[in-house]
Amino acid sequence: MPSLPLTELRAIVGDAHVLDDAGATAGHLTDWTGRWTGHADAVIRPRTTDEVSAVVALCADAGVVICVQGGNTGLVGGSVPPAGGDPARRPLILMTTARMTDIDGVDAIGRCVGAQAGATIDAIDRQAAASGLRFPVDLASRESATAGGLVATNAGGIRMIRHGNTRRQVLGIEAVLADGRILRRWTSLVKDNVGYDLPGLLAGSEGTLAVITRVLFRLIAPPDGTLVTVAAVHHVADAIDLLGALSGRGLNIEAAEIMSEAGISLVEEYGSRRPVAARAPFYVLVETSGPGDVEAVVLEVMENAPVADAVLEPGPARALWSAREQHTESIARSSTTPVVKLDVSVPIRALPEALAELDAVAGVVDHPCRPILFGHIGDGNIHVNLLDVPEDRADHVTAHVFGIVAANGGSISAEHGIGRAKTPWTHLGRSEADLAAMRGIKDAFDPRGIFNPGVIFG
Ligand SMILES: Cc1cc2nc3c(=O)[nH]c(=O)nc-3n(C[C@H](O)[C@H](O)[C@H](O)COP(=O)(O)OP(=O)(O)OC[C@H]3O[C@@H](n4cnc5c(N)ncnc54)[C@H](O)[C@@H]3O)c2cc1C
Repeated sequence: MPSLPLTELRAIVGDAHVLDDAGATAGHLTDWTGRWTGHADAVIRPRTTDEVSAVVALCADAGVVICVQGGNTGLVGGSVPPAGGDPARRPLILMTTARMTDIDGVDAIGRCVGAQAGATIDAIDRQAAASGLRFPVDLASRESATAGGLVATNAGGIRMIRHGNTRRQVLGIEAVLADGRILRRWTSLVKDNVGYDLPGLLAGSEGTLAVITRVLFRLIAPPDGTLVTVAAVHHVADAIDLLGALSGRGLNIEAAEIMSEAGISLVEEYGSRRPVAARAPFYVLVETSGPGDVEAVVLEVMENAPVADAVLEPGPARALWSAREQHTESIARSSTTPVVKLDVSVPIRALPEALAELDAVAGVVDHPCRPILFGHIGDGNIHVNLLDVPEDRADHVTAHVFGIVAANGGSISAEHGIGRAKTPWTHLGRSEADLAAMRGIKDAFDPRGIFNPGVIFG
């Protein structure tokens, strides 16, 4: 049975950055949802790529398992180790990128910026803004979620409809492979087809293939101005038609979110203002940008759209956004048990039916269950939150939800990944041949299985 090489680890990262007492490590071992708590023999906090490389090489030789953590905002249990430590009983360290926060100067001509894996999305966006540019991915966890975590989960977020997911923003990557070697693809070239797209492969790899240490991200020019509209609607189909009408009139859809009355009531209970006075079963938030007179076009579209009520405000319209952004936290505070959070997608044409079926899930299970649904409507992405579900019934209700999603031709993971939470259901989204090919990639990158055991593959 191998033992943890504590002395050597301390020599690499420094005494202060090897934490092995329960008080100091606890904060890293429970995930954001509170559903997943893991065990690690130590938490290691490297500062540089060379330190990560030395730690990984040491662990590979010593038979030590490594779980990687960024901002710990992941919602599928992948950011913390397994509850009992490594299933094969090898020593296990949690490696956090919390000290790897450097951000390079912006390349304003190439429109890109390099950042260490632990830099937060908010910090990278602020760096971009200082050069008149913007980071293309945005999500409510921006102040904690990191560059490495964003790439490892291939995060989507509220600007996905306009700019695509995180994979599309990655121009270059630096990562430490399972034997400690450093893989570096670092170029601002937008055309570079020399062999396999390894940066693209690491996007969505959830810490199972390599430790991402630096990322070179594409940046975008922000729109001249935006208009945020929140409309109360009676049917999901009305929200979809509204989006179609706005983009049909030539507007850019910068973001498009759907919320339900249950969600709006909940965030109101926790202190957020209702975005519109009228109550309706659904609320759609659309942020639009030009060409042309955006406000005039939106007002004209609204006049002919079946909306119960609407408000318009120039972007960023933080107060209007706050009702949407407060959903995740209000849901977490309201539930009497750790929330069952399922992030799914269905084809847009199936959204009305799927939302109705998902909302009715409480009626078909034999235990407490309070569904709150919201999401990125323009991407067919629904965040299914099931509150008050007893811990031992979480898998049961999850299976129901995934059954509905599969029957509607959807995906069991729209943007949060598989982590530990969804491993029993990957067959619903991938064929046997597909899963075997993924397993082959895992084995090629990480033959000893030292990275994030139990994540994606169970
Ligand atoms: C309020 C809130 C809102 C959210 N909104 C969205 C949303 O709109 N869209 C969306 O996609 N997600 C959303 N999320 C989920 C989460 O923020 C994203 O998945 C985010 O990308 C995770 O980043 P992180 O740094 O916190 O990663 P962590 O949670 O620390 O880790 C997530 C996964 O990435 C791996 N990982 C982390 N860093 C590295 C690294 N350097 N190298 C290799 N692997 C690594 C971990 O091992 C783990 O498997 C939200 C979460 C919260 C709490």
